[in-house]
Amino acid sequence: MAKKEFQAESKRLLEMMINSIYTHKEVFLRELISNASDAIDKIYYKALTDENVSFDKDNYYIKVIPNKEARTLTIIDTGIGMTKDELENNLGTIAKSGSLAFKGENELKDGYDIIGQFGVGFYAAFMVADVVTVKSKALGSGEAYKWESEGADGYTIQTCDKEEVGTEIILKIKENSEDEIYDDYLEEYRLKQIIKKYSDFIRYPIKMDEKTSSDESEDHTEEQIINSMVPIWKKNKNELTDEDYEKFYNEKHYGFDKPIKHLHISVDGTIRYNAILFIPENIPFDYYSKEYEKGLELYSNGVLIMSKCSDLLPDYFSFVKGMVDSEDLSLNISREMLQHDRQLKLISKNINKKIKSELQNLLKNDREKYEAFFKSFGTQLKYGVYSDFGANKEMLQDLLLFYSSKEKKLVTLDEYVSRMPEEQKYIYYATGESNERIAKLPQTELVADKGYEILFLTENVDEFAIKMLMTYKEKEFKSVSSGDLGIEEDHDESQDTEEYKELFDAMKNILAGKVSDVRVSKRLKTHPVCLSTDGEVTIEMEKVLNAMPDNQNIKADKVLEINTNHEVFKSLKASYENDKEKLSLFTNLLYNQALLIEGLPIQDPVEFTNDICKVMV
Ligand code: ADP
Ligand code: MG
Repeated sequence: MAKKEFQAESKRLLEMMINSIYTHKEVFLRELISNASDAIDKIYYKALTDENVSFDKDNYYIKVIPNKEARTLTIIDTGIGMTKDELENNLGTIAKSGSLAFKGENELKDGYDIIGQFGVGFYAAFMVADVVTVKSKALGSGEAYKWESEGADGYTIQTCDKEEVGTEIILKIKENSEDEIYDDYLEEYRLKQIIKKYSDFIRYPIKMDEKTSSDESEDHTEEQIINSMVPIWKKNKNELTDEDYEKFYNEKHYGFDKPIKHLHISVDGTIRYNAILFIPENIPFDYYSKEYEKGLELYSNGVLIMSKCSDLLPDYFSFVKGMVDSEDLSLNISREMLQHDRQLKLISKNINKKIKSELQNLLKNDREKYEAFFKSFGTQLKYGVYSDFGANKEMLQDLLLFYSSKEKKLVTLDEYVSRMPEEQKYIYYATGESNERIAKLPQTELVADKGYEILFLTENVDEFAIKMLMTYKEKEFKSVSSGDLGIEEDHDESQDTEEYKELFDAMKNILAGKVSDVRVSKRLKTHPVCLSTDGEVTIEMEKVLNAMPDNQNIKADKVLEINTNHEVFKSLKASYENDKEKLSLFTNLLYNQALLIEGLPIQDPVEFTNDICKVMV
């Protein structure tokens, strides 16, 4: 029979599994059992909406059968089974294609990251088996099919005999090698250990035959259920270790990292629910993309009714993983109805409060961990401040961190404000590409000279979030590039501007609409020139807005500020008086310098370099 090829990505993945140096090969069993459990869940779901399907819990189980003589390990489930097409599509192709392209080769070498993260669980079977045979009969189908593969060079599919609906996976266990005793996976005690370790809370019984007779000649066996089937969230918190939670997190494929924090909530009042929530450390690979789906698993009294209930989490906490189980929710509730469910709304509100206070505790008690969290998900919190017209800003403002010019590390707004000298009117911030670049911005000179702290904003969303906040503890935010910095200086600059009015008007004309004004700078100390803005739109915002797909070509009102104490200004004045052509040259040079400092593109770089040459000659 002709062999079919694996889809290219699957093939690579499979090769990695086969050659895996992964040290915990035993997880193959966890993966296969979890698939079996999923398959039974699927019948369960079907029964919820299809009256022709009934679900009697007692008929559903998973069975693990080792056979030392034949060197096989068989995993049987009474789940929904697979049709011929499903065998082909589910086992011949990676479910989420593109996942390999995303991860670098190096990260994949060990195989650890991918197991689970991308739903490649089934291939884990090839870590321990030379041949994998899957016999399956789908619910409602008359025929059964056998899928078989010896590895990366392909697989075969043909009809086969199988009475019961469900799936049977037969692993031909590898011969022992130098590094691995594969015999282990045929040992009853070892298999039990692995099941207990990884699959204890699986809701369906995982059965194994146990020899009951000591009589060598007679094989009396009895079926035994290995897993306790009590879900972890119904267990007492005191009985559970951090490791148990981490195991649950991994088993559930919530993430492949170690969660930073877990919350185990049991509420027994007007609303009753149990929840286990996790705050991950690492960003899921698709987190900041449209593909990412937020949500928590939703159970009704121990039975999964939805795997991603998005109504339980607001967008700003979309990174939270975990599950909620409430006996007050109806099993048959539809997605549409859930949205309006009062219980669910209460649970959601309750959960969000707990997540917030957990994050606040973390910030207070374990700054290092919080910063690791913030590095991953801080952007999301800032979006949260900005979106919905700032409806959640109060809720989130104390969770924000920004880099401080003085502390040289991330600080909270509260820390900033509590350090403000009495005469300081505003919370100052500066925007730019990186902390290093911002630190060199001429606009920061005056504020920094005053000894005031400046928050460095380096992310696109930052300034939008700050603008949405408007104030923190009654202190207004102020960009160091904005018109009035609220810092008293010894002399009146408006007078200066008046004094040089003719010169500045001439410069404005030369720049023909590129700037809305030319002024004496209050903030420059050592630099000759900088740009500032009038009005609400800052230069940083202009950059962000114009990078958006349907940009409205929004422009900031740019002001060219001139440092009249700088040597260059003398030349400028002289040129105005004696040489109009030179004035034009100098004005353009200064303007382009200001653009460069700001990280803005120069309209005509060739002209700019020619201008520099003219000055040099
Ligand atoms: P995942 O479980 O994350 O989807 P797997 O690689 O573990 O990824 O499984 C791939 C797919 O194969 C599953 O989504 C499921 O559709 C199908 N599958 C695997 N094992 C079984 C099984 N025992 N019964 C029914 N379908 C299965
Ligand atoms: Mg799986």
